[in-house]
Amino acid sequence: MPSIPLSNPDILADLLRQVFGFAAFRANQEAVCRAALEGQDLLLVMPTGSGKSLCYQLPSIALGGTALVISPLIALMEDQVAKLAALGLKVARIHSGQDRGASRQACIDYLQGSLQFLFIAPERLRVPGFPEMLAKRKPGLIAIDEAHCISQWGHDFRPDYRMLGQHLPALRPAPVLALTATATPTVQADIVAQLGMVNPAKFIHGFRRENLAIEVVETPVPERAGAVCRLLADRERRPAIVYATSRKQAERLAEELAARIPAAAYHAGLDAEIRERVQTAFQAGELEAVVATIAFGMGIDKADIRTVIHAGLPATLEGYYQEIGRAGRDGKSSRTFLMHSYADQRTHDFFLNRDYPPVGDLEEVYRVLCDEPIPVEALRGSSKLDEEAFDKALEKLEIHGGARVDFGGGVTQGGPGWKKTYGVQAQYRAEQLDKVLRFTVSSECRMAALVRHFGDVEDATQPCGVCDVCDPEGAVLKLFRRANAAERDLAQRIVNELRSVDYKAAGTLQRDLELVGRISREEYDGLLDAMVRAGLIEMENAEYEKDGEVRRYRKVRLTAVGLEMRRTTSMELLIADGMVEGFGGRSDAPARARKAKTPFKTSNTKKAEAAATELTPAGAALAARLREWRATEAKRLGVPAYVVLHDRTLTAVARRRPENPRELLAIDGMGPAKVEKFGGAILGLCGAE
Ligand code: ADP
Ligand code: ZN
Repeated sequence: MPSIPLSNPDILADLLRQVFGFAAFRANQEAVCRAALEGQDLLLVMPTGSGKSLCYQLPSIALGGTALVISPLIALMEDQVAKLAALGLKVARIHSGQDRGASRQACIDYLQGSLQFLFIAPERLRVPGFPEMLAKRKPGLIAIDEAHCISQWGHDFRPDYRMLGQHLPALRPAPVLALTATATPTVQADIVAQLGMVNPAKFIHGFRRENLAIEVVETPVPERAGAVCRLLADRERRPAIVYATSRKQAERLAEELAARIPAAAYHAGLDAEIRERVQTAFQAGELEAVVATIAFGMGIDKADIRTVIHAGLPATLEGYYQEIGRAGRDGKSSRTFLMHSYADQRTHDFFLNRDYPPVGDLEEVYRVLCDEPIPVEALRGSSKLDEEAFDKALEKLEIHGGARVDFGGGVTQGGPGWKKTYGVQAQYRAEQLDKVLRFTVSSECRMAALVRHFGDVEDATQPCGVCDVCDPEGAVLKLFRRANAAERDLAQRIVNELRSVDYKAAGTLQRDLELVGRISREEYDGLLDAMVRAGLIEMENAEYEKDGEVRRYRKVRLTAVGLEMRRTTSMELLIADGMVEGFGGRSDAPARARKAKTPFKTSNTKKAEAAATELTPAGAALAARLREWRATEAKRLGVPAYVVLHDRTLTAVARRRPENPRELLAIDGMGPAKVEKFGGAILGLCGAE
């Protein structure tokens, strides 16, 4: 073990090289290590894979003494222990998956001071005498991994983590480092309070991913497969991971994709051997797309993933963020697409009910328990619940302390406190889904919204510039159209209405303008979103309580720009309008080689060019002629070119080459008035070779 005097100012950098073999610190690591070295309590919220472990390991080695590491999962613990042991460090662990002798030896080594790291599971603190043993020789540093587990507002709440707070004082004065990859501001405050941390330095960083362009698109379920196939037909969008919401969806999507590109499914229902093969093939580049359920990705270390598609609504923003985070690890521009619709909500409600059964189910199991152990099978057999529901109820009871299962499978009754924590957690899960839903309909920058969700409020004020909200025209899947005269007029009325007030609730505004019943809710919301994008108004989610129920509403207020704006008719208002042509529709439509649109290009001409390159050479030539004619015509009429013919329509005409007015009329965007006015000219161009 290298011994380096503490006074050496570069001790951290030296240890980083000598012990860990790393050439340089990653962002924020050094600052964290320095703070820890000074003995400060720390709260670290950084994404998975950002190198949090080093932030407690390095200062602990520098400080000397033993680091006590509390970790909620045996697998996590084993992984860390193996890594540290491989570096030649003295490590031991104590958890239930280990035999008694090994645990005893770990205690002896700990008390002799020969360990650099001791890993323990939080349940250990319940073992009589164990906390006292730890306190006999105080650790040099205490690290609490997955610290969000302590908060009942965090996902994965672990009641055992609650006990940590009461045991820490006896182990002080060591600094306490709490580490997690996810903690909303509420959870952060809870962690600090529960652990009794003293003026902790907070490091909440690294959630922004500059090279990801996020696109969220409402997509009807039957159109998703087609959209996925077309997106990935473009070589530059591969390799790609597609996340499906069920095994069945994963299989089907993989089959459709495999007819076009090297692709396979990956989910927990497949043999380990097959999964291994899929993963290896993807890693090696033999497979260019994998359609997976959440089981995929953990073991993936592939830097050049260009696209991550969610073919359904994810259950949590945490999971979603982690999954899109697998794109663009090499730092190059990458795109992520989230497809959702109302149908996803129902699916999730179903999962929620399955994973969090009604309290009544748990109560039923709890009631028959007593102090005498009853075998699980006997309980299951006599229960009114079916097998699956029974197992789920017992599992939840055990997690929340309402039941104890001994090694022989005997169940005894636990404390009555389970009801409260279980209720809170079930509620929390429902709220998580709510957050995903709100994310999909929000008009805030997608990246900023995620950064805020993870607790970095400071960084959340910065728009990313490349998501579908920041740069609607650069969107690949979502199409925006310019507002028509009536919509622009309505926007003007909204601006006028807001001018004299601080804000109005979206619903009130709709009523005051007497729009209810005159335009649909979707149209109204679409217009408000367009006004947010144009910078005229801001919207904020708010809630109030009525009859004991929380009601949500949106505050709408003018921005400084909106306040200045006398006439909005000159503003460019872009209204979300379905998907880019060629991306919706049935998936059995022929896959076209869609020429790459380099990520992050924003201008319309680029989009038009990209669309035009899908055409045959003759089609492209026709498109060029049509465009030329359109420019002249627009000039003659004194209107913008798209008023004469929309890009989409122009491309469709060039592709289909209609021979008569009826065929022309069948093309989307060619109404009777247009055919009347321009039909002759267009058909003339189509006929000329
Ligand atoms: P987290 O706990 O934040 O999820 P880890 O601590 O497991 O992340 O680190 C992720 C990976 O990054 C590990 O393989 C680790 O060895 C590596 N790593 C951490 N710090 C550095 C560094 N300064 N230079 C190179 N690799 C690093
Ligand atoms: Zn953005």
